[in-house]
Amino acid sequence: MKAIIAVVSLIIVLTISLVVMSNHTALSMTPAVKVVGIATPVAVTLTNPHGVRHVTAWLEQNGARFPIYEDRSPASRIFWSRHQAPRNVTFEAGRNKAPTLKEGPARLVVETVSNDLRGSTDSAAYDLNVVLAPPRVIPDDLEHLINQGGMELVTFTPSGSWSEAGVHVGKYSFRSFPLPSGGGQRFSMFAYPWDLPADTVPAVYGRNLAGTEAVGRFRYKLFAKKFRVRDFEIDDALMEKLVTSVDPTGQLAPGPDLLSRFLKINGELRQKNNQQMADLRFKTEEKILWNGPFIHYGKEEANFADVRSYIYHGKKVDQQVHLGFDLSDVQNAPVNAANDGRIVWAADLGIYGNCVVVDHGYSLQSIYGHMRQIDLKVGDMVKRGQKMGIAGQTGLAGGVHVHFSMQIDGVQTNPREWWDEHWIKDRILSKLDPLRMSAKVVSASSEPAPRAKKGAGRKRVAR
Ligand SMILES: [Zn+2]
Repeated sequence: MKAIIAVVSLIIVLTISLVVMSNHTALSMTPAVKVVGIATPVAVTLTNPHGVRHVTAWLEQNGARFPIYEDRSPASRIFWSRHQAPRNVTFEAGRNKAPTLKEGPARLVVETVSNDLRGSTDSAAYDLNVVLAPPRVIPDDLEHLINQGGMELVTFTPSGSWSEAGVHVGKYSFRSFPLPSGGGQRFSMFAYPWDLPADTVPAVYGRNLAGTEAVGRFRYKLFAKKFRVRDFEIDDALMEKLVTSVDPTGQLAPGPDLLSRFLKINGELRQKNNQQMADLRFKTEEKILWNGPFIHYGKEEANFADVRSYIYHGKKVDQQVHLGFDLSDVQNAPVNAANDGRIVWAADLGIYGNCVVVDHGYSLQSIYGHMRQIDLKVGDMVKRGQKMGIAGQTGLAGGVHVHFSMQIDGVQTNPREWWDEHWIKDRILSKLDPLRMSAKVVSASSEPAPRAKKGAGRKRVAR
């Protein structure tokens, strides 16, 4: 009798401890899905050291329940695992699984059963919105002339259900803004970046909150460009100068020797600085701040998107692309704003040295690098031709010059187009603000007309 009681008690104790040791499941949805459409991907992480033996998910709307996901695995009630890693479950939620789902609020419920004796049921419910109407985009029917490495402006009309619209060019996306003239039309200034193959097809796009995207092709003609490859000789003295100028304390780019430090600066740091530069695109005003062609001054020492082979002790040690123009100038020469705008950066920026970035509105920005002295600060408005500081050789610069470049929505583009009054009228103002063009005669003042480089084939340049 005692033995039986002992066995029964043991079983009871074991059962109780198995139940007590049973675990709950933590559910988390990342990224949080707020809107579902036709087939919206959902990812849920289930955390339970014992694992999960049953997962179900359904959508609820107006009292109806639409099953969208189920997964069952064999139960382990006594010899369960103790160290199950969190499990990721992904499925699609939307009308493909729930044919009578309607636009409006709904709820997504995910329920789990833990894989132990008690088999605790845990669930999480997420309120969301159903958006079924697709977006639509209709681009203008103009012929768009695009220089590879340059930029262009397209207008379009989004309709249907859309929350975001712009232009895709290969891996790059460009925002759009409402056309100043109104009427539901939008425009996007986009680059055709130098690093994309010439068969990349740009297109306008519109996307709804559920992630459904519509694209619209527009007519365009691409003027392919050959980017120059040039050797850039570096001896020990120059390398020492460049490395010390960018990283005087040795903390930014540490390394066992001069070359490895230089390569770190020219590679990793260049990339980081270009990202910082690109992120300035969010500091923009939704209006045209500039007026007339951009000022071109100094002598061109390097072209936009020159591919530079770095030669050190007779060997090629690196290759980078130079995204701008080097405009040589004399010591103590003023650095002037190329056009009206607002300063959004006025500080050291790694390889660019002391650098000023001016926003000209609608994410068009101009960049001035290697300055010795900056006289203005972030937030200051500048006028075309206004002195912003003094040219120098800070950052990755072998001698005194201004590194000048422009970017559209964070992508560096050939500034040559913006030196050309005709290009600005034909490619930008005629579409962006035709009234401004006729009301006000944009004058090139005393600036020399932009000239083509020798042999650049002017006739093939889109304007
Ligand atoms: Zn430069």
